[in-house]
Amino acid sequence: MRIDVVSIFPEYLAALDLSLIGKARQDGLLDLRVHDLRSYTTDRHRTVDDTPYGGGAGMVMKPEPWALALQSVSDASPADGRPVLIVPSPAGAVFTQQMAHELAEESHLAFACGRYEGIDERVLEWADELFDVRPVSLGDYVLNGGEVAVLAMVEAVGRLLPGVVGNPASLVEESHSDGLLEYPVYTKPSDWRGRGIPEVLLSGNHARIAQFRRDEQFRRTAQRRPDLLEGLPAGTLSKADLAA
Ligand code: SAM
Repeated sequence: MRIDVVSIFPEYLAALDLSLIGKARQDGLLDLRVHDLRSYTTDRHRTVDDTPYGGGAGMVMKPEPWALALQSVSDASPADGRPVLIVPSPAGAVFTQQMAHELAEESHLAFACGRYEGIDERVLEWADELFDVRPVSLGDYVLNGGEVAVLAMVEAVGRLLPGVVGNPASLVEESHSDGLLEYPVYTKPSDWRGRGIPEVLLSGNHARIAQFRRDEQFRRTAQRRPDLLEGLPAGTLSKADLAA
């Protein structure tokens, strides 16, 4: 997969050199390039922002540096069709695990990191010819810029690419993979500071362990995120789940 990120703070994305995503880059599974928006400015001060039309607080990102940067990303795209352009924004659709799975199927993703009050709206309209433009929010709160959102989204998508996570089974049994939260996990020692672990986990009985974990998934989801249960497709929960 090819990923391009445009930002006025390219150093923010240095964390993508670390851990599994960094290794995926080294191994050639992920071709990730970070571009400095200021290198697409044409004035002496490398200006990327200006005052908002209509007045109000804050500054707005100027359209022309964005057009030049995005045109360059588009020109170098290895994708057959329009690559996906993610525009992080608190006013976007909320990022989910399902979205991560969909994005992991793409051959080329681009990310446009806004700052200040955001990017001049006309850039998104203009970019529609070159990209499949998608404003995406990390959640219902406001960050200072898109970089943190990009770190989260690239990690969530990148770990789904084949070969990135050593044991693909660990991608199946985790929170949000089947609409539920993950069950609690434990490791050695079995007795730690006077606290034991659920006896069934020492039983060696795989069917009982699977049922225990399923019950815990359901209990935890009902307790912490009842909204997720409402969104499950009909028939997802068995009678045993409902009784748990
Ligand atoms: N004025 C904008 C609004 O109210 O929708 C918020 C601008 S915010 C201070 C600056 C930038 O941070 C945004 O352009 C976006 O790139 C990023 N950002 C802030 N909150 C975000 C969120 N929840 N999800 C994704 N990106 C976010």
